[in-house]
Amino acid sequence: MNNKDVQRILRHRGLYSGAIDGILGRISMSAIATLLYQRRAKLPNNYEMWSNERKGIGAAQIILSEDKFYTGTLDGLVGYETTYALEQFNEFLSSGKRPSSWRPDDTFTSTVGKWGSQSDMARRYGPAGGPQCFAGRVQVPFKLKLAWNLDTTISSFSCHEAIARSATAAYEKVANEFSTQQIQELGLNIWGGCYAFRNKRGGSTLSTHAYGLAIDTDPLRNQLRWNATRARLGKSDASKWFDIWESEGWQSLGRYRDFDWMHVQAVKV
Ligand SMILES: [Zn+2]
Repeated sequence: MNNKDVQRILRHRGLYSGAIDGILGRISMSAIATLLYQRRAKLPNNYEMWSNERKGIGAAQIILSEDKFYTGTLDGLVGYETTYALEQFNEFLSSGKRPSSWRPDDTFTSTVGKWGSQSDMARRYGPAGGPQCFAGRVQVPFKLKLAWNLDTTISSFSCHEAIARSATAAYEKVANEFSTQQIQELGLNIWGGCYAFRNKRGGSTLSTHAYGLAIDTDPLRNQLRWNATRARLGKSDASKWFDIWESEGWQSLGRYRDFDWMHVQAVKV
């Protein structure tokens, strides 16, 4: 999402009639500031300190969210959800209709520990990147720091609607079984992402993240190719973390394959 996208989105809402030139000048910024002020109750307290670019993105997120394209937080930061919402919006502008929505059937209010397998994801959870993949909301009883922006904390995030309750339950167990200090030492509060429309890292097939069925934790200290001797979460004091996810029927690639210790997923490999 760049400044031109922001201007296009403002124009779509009727808040901007100037040129789509990517320059956030007086007219663009006035429209952005007005919108942010009107929705200030939904924004972080410090939003007035954001850079002009970030304010623009925040205003675009507000419009995309009110138009049901965006389900992420109004934080002025471009993550996967913002990028995805922009793609959906652009598709809507060019085709005149919304990308078709998809709803799960009743089997998805399913039993703990029976999330199916990775090979069956599309059939069971709907197409990757569909709205159901980020319609769920995981509530976390402690603050998570964004791995790519440690100054920013969140207490909930989007995931596939079928697994939100399970992930919320897992985080509640984490809060009950680890002290705040342990959570910080192990980096369980460093959130590396959940829903993301992308291929597997180093692969050509879609990731479980593209379905909102996986969560990454502390990616910097648990890099993809690191095994248990190097990854922080591969050490024995983290074993309860994985016990908890397994108790919810999830799987750790670290435990299963001794790599990607940052990653847990609902479906089985
Ligand atoms: Zn992952």
